[in-house]
Amino acid sequence: MIALLALLLVLLGASAVAWRRERSRGRAAEIRHAEALAALRAGREAGLREQAQRAVALFDRMVEGVVVLDATGGVRHANHAAGELFGFAPPATGRALLEVVRHHEVAAVAARLGREPEVLEHELRLEGPGPARFLQINALALRDGQGKHDGALLVFHDVTRLRQLEAMRQEFVANVSHELRTPLSLIKGAVETLLDGGKDDAVALTRFLDIIDRHTDRLTLLINDLLLLSTLESGRLRLVLQPVSLRAAIQEVMDDFQLRARARGVELVNDVPPALVAEADPDRLRQVLSNLLDNAVKYGRAEGRATACARSLGDGRIEVSISDDGPGIQPEAQARIFERFYRVDKARSRDQGGTGLGLAIVKHVVQAHGGDVRVESGPDKGTTFYFTLRQANGK
Ligand code: ADP
Repeated sequence: MIALLALLLVLLGASAVAWRRERSRGRAAEIRHAEALAALRAGREAGLREQAQRAVALFDRMVEGVVVLDATGGVRHANHAAGELFGFAPPATGRALLEVVRHHEVAAVAARLGREPEVLEHELRLEGPGPARFLQINALALRDGQGKHDGALLVFHDVTRLRQLEAMRQEFVANVSHELRTPLSLIKGAVETLLDGGKDDAVALTRFLDIIDRHTDRLTLLINDLLLLSTLESGRLRLVLQPVSLRAAIQEVMDDFQLRARARGVELVNDVPPALVAEADPDRLRQVLSNLLDNAVKYGRAEGRATACARSLGDGRIEVSISDDGPGIQPEAQARIFERFYRVDKARSRDQGGTGLGLAIVKHVVQAHGGDVRVESGPDKGTTFYFTLRQANGK
């Protein structure tokens, strides 16, 4: 009996030890589980934090402005580009959108996203201290896991350059149409007059045929200049570079202009030293020299002088100059004369058969040779155009 009792006690003791061991093992497992859960949660939070940080870093590197809004329309995050576009300090977290961007159209786009479509596109004109800028807004409604409205993403693209190019293209088409229409209407008028009986009068016949002749020449000149300019601007022009004696090249052009210069009493002077040899495309160089000499004869002083000079700059370049002793060009116009179709005096240029493209062609041809062009002009010192070319063989 005693032995049985002793056995029971031993068994009870053993089971108590086993139970205690089991309990402590269970608690350890519970602790491990809790630790694992905490680690998982921390990991998940760290992962989310990392993801959010990565998204913010990505937004901040974007050239487009980005503003992320929360469900109440407040700013969750705005990137640097957005700050620069609207003049505020990013990330502007917690501030109202309108207070940050100070533009009602932006706030209106964000408000529409709460009610209307998921994606919106809108173009905005930003008036600033400088010239106006154009922004394209792409706006996207954000939804949470249950599909509930959870704010919005606004992306701002600066499309100012694109709009400027479009405006330039439209202006160019309008200019070309105008330039074509003027000689065409004069030719049409002359033909109608001849058909109406003008052809029977020998004097009128010569006069109107002369008008037709001059204006068809002008149309040909305009179309040739336009084609050349388009080749130059597209970078498709292939230069055939070779050593060119500058004095001889200038003399050739001066010989061609002799008659026209004499008609205005202008003396042409070639002061280019014979030893200077440039690396150039002879046909294109002739074009540059012709355009500059043509202007010197046309716009310089009647009974005046047009002079060509050149000198080595000592760094492998030659500077060529064509000057006249005419009335000069106003400083505000000097900044624009290399633009296509820009003329100081439109009527005078057209009377003289100018296309308004001569200096734009000069600039592009010189740049295609790796050189640059500039003008110096003043009321009492006439006008001098300078351009640079590479010296042949670095001599
Ligand atoms: P255009 O066919 O009118 O001559 P250009 O592009 O050659 O076109 O010149 C643009 C304008 O620059 C001219 O219309 C003229 O007003 C001005 N200009 C050019 N060269 C001279 C010059 N040597 N003296 C004064 N004005 C000039």
